[in-house]
Amino acid sequence: MARVLFMNGGSEGHINPTIGVVQELIARGEEVVYFASEAYRERLEKTGASVRTFDDQQFIKAFISGGRNYLLERINGLLLTADIVIPSVLDQIKDEHFDYMIHDSMFGCGRLLAQILKLPAINSCTSFAQTKESFDRILEHFSTETPAEIVKPINDKFQSLMARIKEKYDAEIHSPYEVFCNPAPLTIVYTTKEFQPHGEAFDQTYKFVGPSISSRLTEANFDFTAIKGKSPIYISLGTVFNHAIDFYKLCFEAFGNTDHAVVMSVGKKTQISDLGEIPENFLVQNYVPQTDVLPYTKLFITHGGMNSTNEALYYGVPLIVIPQSADQPIIAEQVAHAGAGIKLQMQGLTANQLLEAVDHVLSLSSFKIAVANSSESFRKSGGFHQAVDEILEFTSQYNID
Ligand code: UDP
Repeated sequence: MARVLFMNGGSEGHINPTIGVVQELIARGEEVVYFASEAYRERLEKTGASVRTFDDQQFIKAFISGGRNYLLERINGLLLTADIVIPSVLDQIKDEHFDYMIHDSMFGCGRLLAQILKLPAINSCTSFAQTKESFDRILEHFSTETPAEIVKPINDKFQSLMARIKEKYDAEIHSPYEVFCNPAPLTIVYTTKEFQPHGEAFDQTYKFVGPSISSRLTEANFDFTAIKGKSPIYISLGTVFNHAIDFYKLCFEAFGNTDHAVVMSVGKKTQISDLGEIPENFLVQNYVPQTDVLPYTKLFITHGGMNSTNEALYYGVPLIVIPQSADQPIIAEQVAHAGAGIKLQMQGLTANQLLEAVDHVLSLSSFKIAVANSSESFRKSGGFHQAVDEILEFTSQYNID
């Protein structure tokens, strides 16, 4: 039995696919110590992992203090979280032995910790994977297209943070890519190679295992009898960029009092009472057990989060993607490219456009066919079982047992 250190500073979208992986690792005899935000303690403990936390409020504060406008600012923010995570983790695992480490691809300073602890590391990638070349192209675009007086201080900050981390933790960072993507000798990506942009560019160290769908181990309230036999439209903007009262009201305007049954998740930051009168054909909740509702859903209006998209394709649900931020515009393009749905812009969106988009996607059989094809390949790719097969094959090279 090996002892595994799991590092994940991410929000729900970064945690969800790891639940099945951790449960399966434990079922196969591994012992997992999982570092995450306090908010996920309960559900992670239900996997059988031993859960430890770091100060998530300080973590978010440090991350945001790097700046939000440019990618390199977010990279600086990630570097600023090192002082919150690393000393706390090192202190909490003092005198403990671990055989290997699994870390989130973005949050939690995984690559740095693997270096400090000298552990074989596995990268858990909950978005599309990036090669160094594709990532560098994005950064180069920032350097050439942004005025030098903006680029220089951000770049200087990156250099000084990098030097400070080397001095303080004796860990090397060679590029912004290492900070943002935390490359490791094995990367588990929770989508398919076909859906990944330029999937052919990734070598054998990237394993595309498809969506990792398992019981979420949450006790979300949901009245399934309310949607029985109704095949609803499901609307959600995910768990981060979801405080969108005007959008939710627009959905009322578009679909209220139509023949469509609608389930709408408005996020935990939205007061449902702020939405005014709720049409009778709507079921509105702050949180919906999404992977349990998707199998009954005829169409998903989503922000195009990686997990939401993977989950919908797994269950064969066509999508209308309205990207809000981050990697969502790219995900929306991949959905359109696969023929599994269409992309709409949030800016200037009207109720009429929404209704027409729904009619369009529901009436054309081409969407149904494309989604059924995606669903088949997503289901075949193995999910968390395959992820754990890959992890154990990888660790067997290190004589870990
Ligand atoms: N989710 C859920 N219920 C909700 C909203 C979201 O279960 O009401 C889950 C969803 O199934 C997905 C995750 O939260 O696994 C959201 O991740 P995603 O990458 O789609 O978007 P993010 O929240 O990171 O923007």
